[in-house]
Amino acid sequence: MEQKKQIVIIGAGLTGLSLAWYLKKYGHTALVIEKTHTPGGVMQTVSEGGFVYETGPNTGVIGTPDLVDLLGGLSGSCTPERASRRGVKRYIMYKERWHALPCGPVSGLFTPLFSMRDKFRILGEPFRKPGTDPYESVADMTVRRMGRTILNYAVNPFISGIYAGDPAKLTTQYALPKLYALEQNYGSFIKGAIRKARLPKTDEEKQVTREIFSAEGGFGNLTSALVEKTGAENIVCSAQNVCVEPAGKRYTVSYTVNGQKTSVDAHTVVSTTGSHEIAGLFPFIPKAEITPATSVEYAKLVQVAVGYNKWTGFKLDAFGGLVPAREQRSMLGILFPSAIFKGRAPEGGALLSVFMGGVQKPEVLEYTDNEIEKLVYYEIESSLYPGQAPDLVRITRHSHAIPQYGPNTGRRLDAIAIIEQRYPGIYLAGNGRDGIAMADRVKQARTLAGKINSDI
Ligand SMILES: Cc1cc2nc3c(=O)[nH]c(=O)nc-3n(C[C@H](O)[C@H](O)[C@H](O)COP(=O)(O)OP(=O)(O)OC[C@H]3O[C@@H](n4cnc5c(N)ncnc54)[C@H](O)[C@@H]3O)c2cc1C
Repeated sequence: MEQKKQIVIIGAGLTGLSLAWYLKKYGHTALVIEKTHTPGGVMQTVSEGGFVYETGPNTGVIGTPDLVDLLGGLSGSCTPERASRRGVKRYIMYKERWHALPCGPVSGLFTPLFSMRDKFRILGEPFRKPGTDPYESVADMTVRRMGRTILNYAVNPFISGIYAGDPAKLTTQYALPKLYALEQNYGSFIKGAIRKARLPKTDEEKQVTREIFSAEGGFGNLTSALVEKTGAENIVCSAQNVCVEPAGKRYTVSYTVNGQKTSVDAHTVVSTTGSHEIAGLFPFIPKAEITPATSVEYAKLVQVAVGYNKWTGFKLDAFGGLVPAREQRSMLGILFPSAIFKGRAPEGGALLSVFMGGVQKPEVLEYTDNEIEKLVYYEIESSLYPGQAPDLVRITRHSHAIPQYGPNTGRRLDAIAIIEQRYPGIYLAGNGRDGIAMADRVKQARTLAGKINSDI
């Protein structure tokens, strides 16, 4: 079968679906080709036995004007749900017990998480010289500006929670670009944050609240709303052997569904898959060009949804708890979705979401379900709810969960730019670049839709 389409998007995760929708707003209908049987990528919600759990991200942060725009555009089809006030509180594990992360100077002074020396060092942060190494790791930058205990008991668990990564391997400029810019532009994080807060903001920027959010009924409803807006007829699922080949100044994208091969003629092809999939999609691009553009380590993650019909354990009055690597536990962190969102567990019960693995313990992905369950029971029993078996345990393994933006990122972005210049109409998007959070994905999609619209 042969079809003529102008724009093909490969991958129907948040990036691909948002891109299709923003292109539609410009008047372009794109065809989205997805290899799994359902759109949404890692954002999938399951309702089972009175629990509503996520198998991918549990929460997002309203962190860019683009996400505000997307959520506004989906109103009527999907209702965003802001986390309850408990969502601002986070626990950090220290010597096998949960301690609230300080949220002000008084709690900061009395917390056991940081040494007295580092607590006072923070006061000197605005007066410390900015760094000069553009490839400085997040770990080195933290120790230089704030101290080792801040690295161990604030930044390390924070990086586990976001990147499932190791602060020593992530490069600040690429992994935390906003923080890097604060130091470079204002000389200090504290000074920079204060000055930035005083800058005038557009109406859209004023809505960037940095609040934690989900969608009512889970993120599956957000991606379903995007499918509805994009038009389900423009999305092909269960597409195998997706392959792009040049055809004169255009491209032929072929794929197979249920044994039937389809070829699509397009002038624009956008990949929104993880970087590890890209070389296979564009076999005509020489290895010497594609390898440097796509070489990025992905953290492996195991997520375990754990449900209790009745909960009388530790008071779940927070977003969740993060575990510093120094504590040597088998989990990276545990979220309390039913404490901050409605309808995630039966009345009086609780839903927890345990994260394991990451770059520091990738081997967890290979453990059997039984081994993972035993580790999860131990973690919950010992710190949250002794002597109570859960009513629901569901394990999801992500072999390529989160890309790690390390020191080669700049060279990788250059290699991507060369490919996009050499093969006009090809765009290599997705989470290998421009940020890993949902808000970043939507920002990339919206920006790229504008670029494609002006390029064609
Ligand atoms: C476990 C987990 C927890 C997370 N937690 C958070 C969080 O708390 N907050 C936050 O902001 N972000 C979080 N993230 C990150 C966020 O979810 C992702 O950045 C975002 O959802 C990625 O969307 P995407 O479309 O770029 O990629 P994906 O969702 O991976 O979508 C890519 C799509 O491409 C398809 N595909 C791949 N190869 C091919 C091929 N060869 N042919 C056709 N299709 C293909 C895939 O099947 C997939 O559907 C988390 C991610 C994970 C995995």
